[in-house]
Parts: sequence; structure tokens; C-alpha cells
Amino acid sequence: MTTPAQTPSADAPAARRLLIVGPPGAGKGTQATRIAEALAIPAISTGDIFRANVSQQTELGVLAKSYMDKGEYVPDSVTNDMVRSRLAEDDATGGFLLDGYPRTLDQVDALDAVLADLGASLDAVLLLEVDSDAVVQRLVARGAEQGRSDDTEETIRRRLEVYAEQTAPLVDVYEKRGLVRRVDGMASIDDVTAALLAALGAPDAR
Ligand code: ADP
Repeated sequence: MTTPAQTPSADAPAARRLLIVGPPGAGKGTQATRIAEALAIPAISTGDIFRANVSQQTELGVLAKSYMDKGEYVPDSVTNDMVRSRLAEDDATGGFLLDGYPRTLDQVDALDAVLADLGASLDAVLLLEVDSDAVVQRLVARGAEQGRSDDTEETIRRRLEVYAEQTAPLVDVYEKRGLVRRVDGMASIDDVTAALLAALGAPDAR
């Protein structure tokens, strides 16, 4: 594959500034890694960045853990600053796939401002649609396998509520901008990847 020229040109480059959205347990992390690899862009997961900070016991990690373990969102100001500096790194200049951000309307505004400062804009928002009973089962299973401290049944329920209250409304915002691409997240992992790539107009990498 050739790298598109830096200047905007008539031969439309593949969509490269992307978000992936969906409830906890939708499979965002799994798919984000695959899509980012296929498009040669970094997958940037705010959840992973927080967890790395928690395990290194940084100041940010200690703060984040107190929210994460209750299923609540880390305060926007903290998350927004973290994303702003991550998107300014060199590997994100040609594109990125953000997983788990934005999650609130305030974060949407913050991301718009960051991208405007970088002279960039979003190309597409991938929405993974899943059935809510299935996601609870997936998360309970993940908690047992990976020992994630926020994958307990009580926290899962709270995370799903917080998603419905605070994050689901973002879909309308991006829908109005014509950016949303809906994909059925209940299919097999490979089929979901293929559907996501097809939704982006990218060739199936398999
Ligand atoms: P999931 O989507 O499976 O719930 P993540 O790994 O994306 O898990 O996030 C885990 C936790 O990290 C969230 O419940 C929240 O506490 C925190 N977090 C991640 N991203 C954000 C964000 N954009 N804003 C606020 N908190 C966040």
C-alpha cells in the first residue's frame, strides 16, 4: 500500500482518524487492535493508558483507580489532558483509532478542539452494536480470566448504566455529522473485523 501524500488530494486517502464506540464488553479493544494494524495507525485506548498508570502506581493511576473500581468515569479534565498529549505524539500525525474516548459530551468538545489545533478532523466513528445480556456475560467471563478489578458484576452494571446515560448520546452527535458506521458486534471476531474494514472502505486484510 502506498502512503498518501501529506497534502490533501483528489484521490481520497483511506479514512484514518477514527473512533470506535460501543458499550463495555462490545469488543472495542479487540477490534481496535486489529483495525489499527490493518490501517497502520496507532490504537489509542484511554482504558489501557489508565490501567498502565494504575499498575505503575503513578499519580494519575492512583486517581484513576478510585473511579475505575466503582465503574465511574475518570474526571473529564484529567482524561482530556491525557488524550491531548497522546494525540500530539508523532505516531498519531497520520491517523489514529481512539478506543474509549470520547465518552462524554464534554470530551466530544475537547476532542474537537484538539483536532482543530492539529488542523485535523474525524473521518469516521465505528459503532459496535451488541445485545446487553451478552455483554454482561462476556465481561463476567473476562473478569474471571483476566482479573480486571472493574469486571465484577456490580461494577459491570454500573458501567453499563453510565454508558447509557453519558456515552450513548454521543452517537446522535456524530450521526448528525454523518460519521457513524454501524456494525453488528455479535458476529465472530473475524467477521466483525471484516465488517468494520468494509465499513471504512478498506480492503479486508485477511
Ligand atoms: P470498558 O469499555 O470495557 O468499560 P475501558 O477499558 O475502555 O473499559 O475503560 C475502563 C474504565 O476506565 C472506565 O470504566 C473508566 O473508569 C475509565 N475510562 C476509560 N476511558 C475513559 C474516558 N474517556 N473518560 C473517563 N473515564 C474513562
